[in-house]
Amino acid sequence: MYFTHLVCTACAREYDGSVPQNLCTACGKPLFACYDLVAAGRTMTKAALRTRAKTLWRYREVLPVRLESDVVTLGEGWTPLHPASRLGAKHGLEKLFIKDEAQNPTGSFKARGMTTAVSMAKQFGLKKLAVPSAGNAAGALAAYAARAGMEAHIFMPRDTPQANIIECEQMGAHVTLIDGLITDCGAEVAKRKVAEGWFDVSTLKEPYRAEGKKTLGYELAEQFDWKLPDVIFYPTGGGTGLIGMWKAFDELEKLGWIGRERPRMYTVQAAGCQPIVRAFMDGEKFAAEHLGAHTKASGLRVPKAIGDFLMLDALRQSKGGALAVSDDAMIACTKEIGAAEGIFPAPEGAACYAALKELLATGAVRRDETIVLFNTSTGLKYLECYPS
Ligand SMILES: *Cc1c(COP(=O)(O)O)cnc(C)c1O
Ligand SMILES: [Zn+2]
Repeated sequence: MYFTHLVCTACAREYDGSVPQNLCTACGKPLFACYDLVAAGRTMTKAALRTRAKTLWRYREVLPVRLESDVVTLGEGWTPLHPASRLGAKHGLEKLFIKDEAQNPTGSFKARGMTTAVSMAKQFGLKKLAVPSAGNAAGALAAYAARAGMEAHIFMPRDTPQANIIECEQMGAHVTLIDGLITDCGAEVAKRKVAEGWFDVSTLKEPYRAEGKKTLGYELAEQFDWKLPDVIFYPTGGGTGLIGMWKAFDELEKLGWIGRERPRMYTVQAAGCQPIVRAFMDGEKFAAEHLGAHTKASGLRVPKAIGDFLMLDALRQSKGGALAVSDDAMIACTKEIGAAEGIFPAPEGAACYAALKELLATGAVRRDETIVLFNTSTGLKYLECYPS
């Protein structure tokens, strides 16, 4: 379509997007997809969007897949943006919203990244994909690989939620459980991929998961009628969602659909694994590994992220911030959200609400602002976190 080439997010070196790529071979940092946005904007107009399918493929012109026949889809994206009025009223908030990503195939927003990554893999004729995952990326890869008739080789920590392990097995993936964290799983993929002929679809180590995730930003803008909210709370692990949304806002401005204003972006992490929070507080450009990482919010158990500098840049440019909440607070907030709004969130989603309460208390977020909390997955995938 209008995808032109890839560019390194750190050193600006350019790469050919018509063959498989992983990281920048010069500096080892992630690559971003670039588009001819002027041309894209000729057919992807606000009016045209009104008549399009209610999936993320409605933003076809700014997604990288060349042929329609290579699109591997299960109906992902265009998830509801629910007003959370009962929850908001507890705090005197009138404009509180929950973007419910649990409605995606496989029950988490990881579907957004995998639909684009697997579609591009199909375009390139790849047959064997591998991923290290804290859980939900694995489930999503298993689903999209099965849909495309490809092999999925999945490496997860042994203590990943049962639901993730079972869903991968039942969708025919090759599952290996590792005694360690997602970083150890990543090392295992890196060690074996050449000999096994696997293509590595780790977060930000291939350029197209971020493209699927960026549709979060397009959807928010469209659902708010092309006016962005004031504040976004996003539970951050590897960071693709946050980085993708920030990229989307930039593209939306180039398309002329929004101005220079941006929401304040807040990263929410777990007290037991908060590398980005620490780096943000310390004014660092990169984040040191969080040693001894532990949290029930498995999606947040990412002690080291290759896109750390991109997240930190976005948080600072947006004048947002980063904060960590305890697992106990996440579990308590789950029931508050569930009982008030009829949404059973993942602990990661509940973490956003815990963080909002803290920032209302300090005054960093005002009660008259438009606030979005991301529920990134369904609580049904985390049953072992709750008393039965
Ligand atoms: C992966 C995941 C996250 C973190 O998302 P990133 O975009 O990688 O930062 C948050 N919540 C859930 C439920 C996840 O599966
Ligand atoms: Zn580079």
